[in-house]
Amino acid sequence: ALNTAQPRLKEPADYLKRYYGYDRFRPMQEDIIQSVVSGRDTVVLMPTGGGKSVCFQIPALMLPGVTVVVSPLIALMKDQVEALHLNGISAAYYNSTQTSRAQRDIEDDCISGKLKLLYVSPEKLLSESFFTFLKRARVSLFAIDEAHCISSWGHDFRPEYTQLNVLKQHFPNVPTVALTATADKLTRQDIAQRLGMNDPAVFIASFNRTNLSLQVLPGQNRLGQIARLLQQKPDTSGIIYCLSRKSTESIAAKLQEKGFSAAFYHAGMDPADRARTQEAFLRDDVRIICATIAFGMGIDKSNVRWVIHYNMPKNIEGFYQEIGRAGRDGAAAQTVLFYSFSDVKTYKEMLAENNPANLGLQLAKLERMQQYADAHTCRRQILLSYFSEDLPEPCGNCDVCRDPRVTFDGTVLAQKALSAMVRTGERVPMNLLIDILRGSRSQAVMQGGYDQIKTYGAGRDLRFEDWRNYLHQLINIGVIEIAYDQHYALRRGILADQVLYGGRKIELVRPDDAPKSIVEKPKT
Ligand code: ADP
Ligand code: ZN
Repeated sequence: ALNTAQPRLKEPADYLKRYYGYDRFRPMQEDIIQSVVSGRDTVVLMPTGGGKSVCFQIPALMLPGVTVVVSPLIALMKDQVEALHLNGISAAYYNSTQTSRAQRDIEDDCISGKLKLLYVSPEKLLSESFFTFLKRARVSLFAIDEAHCISSWGHDFRPEYTQLNVLKQHFPNVPTVALTATADKLTRQDIAQRLGMNDPAVFIASFNRTNLSLQVLPGQNRLGQIARLLQQKPDTSGIIYCLSRKSTESIAAKLQEKGFSAAFYHAGMDPADRARTQEAFLRDDVRIICATIAFGMGIDKSNVRWVIHYNMPKNIEGFYQEIGRAGRDGAAAQTVLFYSFSDVKTYKEMLAENNPANLGLQLAKLERMQQYADAHTCRRQILLSYFSEDLPEPCGNCDVCRDPRVTFDGTVLAQKALSAMVRTGERVPMNLLIDILRGSRSQAVMQGGYDQIKTYGAGRDLRFEDWRNYLHQLINIGVIEIAYDQHYALRRGILADQVLYGGRKIELVRPDDAPKSIVEKPKT
């Protein structure tokens, strides 16, 4: 007789091969799976497309009971469950659109041990009836996807996520794995704490997507520049992220007029239209999507060859996630950020109007984004340092590396700024410091008596905007630091004293000397 029994699966790699058809793990995946299966609480930080799913799906297969997956992306649950079915894994999702009959069937499958994965939204999870049912099922693991939503430090805070701490109270012996693509150090700590994790193992996969080139251009004649790029890369797929719904529509229309295959996408469209547009993009029927940030969550299109930010994003997390949708196949992809000061102004006005509880934090994140855009040092180093990752050498694949800036000796300029800073007791934020340097008679300057200090007006030969740019450069190289906890006052950075007293020279770049072509120079 034929022996139809499957070979027994023992190691995580056996599961990877059998259920997903892959021969080897990507960096970190196996260690993460081992940690989770061993019952340890685990935090996983891995960029979009890095392969987070198998990090909880394989443990779900290896562990005896059911794994409950909490995800805010209700729209994607169906797709995820269908993908699991195609791989021969028994999974279901549970939401309020289902009949109570269907829900009961799922509950039965769970309790009988038939289901390995159950996807649920945080709202549903926290409902009383669901909790009662969960207690009857054998839950072996909680997986919290998009875990940054739990933290008000994160950029995508969802209040319903904060109640997930009850999981540990009710299921103290069930391990939790939290996964996210975007979390700085504070957010990471916050995730672990808010989930009540017990000495979690933290895994940070590299955020260095070397195949993505990075480029920042002034936001002038953006459509003309985009057209040049498209002519240079005919028949490639790409995404143009815009600030407003209206602009996605008008930019798509203008590109169509020029003969390009473009469509728009935003959350104000009716769901059927949205689905159609997304489908058309996935099938390459449409090449260019002009979208708000609503587009892309969970979209698995491997051959996106470029991502353009028509407007500056409001923080680095969002920016990183959005450019991360390019080049998922590992081949070279280009990313371009158009930067204009008016975008910053728009955000500040929007923030002032909404006045969120974490206003200061959001402004600080905006400032970091602006520093990235102003930078004249390797952009990837700045990006990675934001995620606490150290890139020892410049990357060779950003506009600064490809086209090193012409520098001048900016030591005196740095000394002027530092000296004004020190004389004001390192208590003033950037705009005020610039006013002091430029000899402004603004109310804040006069009230603080800053017109009396020796360096008052010492930098009146420079425009406000230029000073801002130079100060950002000084921050990026460590001469100045922003005290986030002291009302964003500027204070001395690690190199400050050497510049003031130690004869250290500082090289700066004139803002107008940065290259302006969207056509990239060859890699260095
Ligand atoms: P994330 O959730 O981190 O954005 P996914 O889990 O959706 O990423 O994985 C992204 C893609 O990588 C998927 O197509 C997935 O099948 C694939 N993938 C994951 N792990 C591996 C692996 N070890 N080898 C090859 N491909 C993998
Ligand atoms: Zn670089």
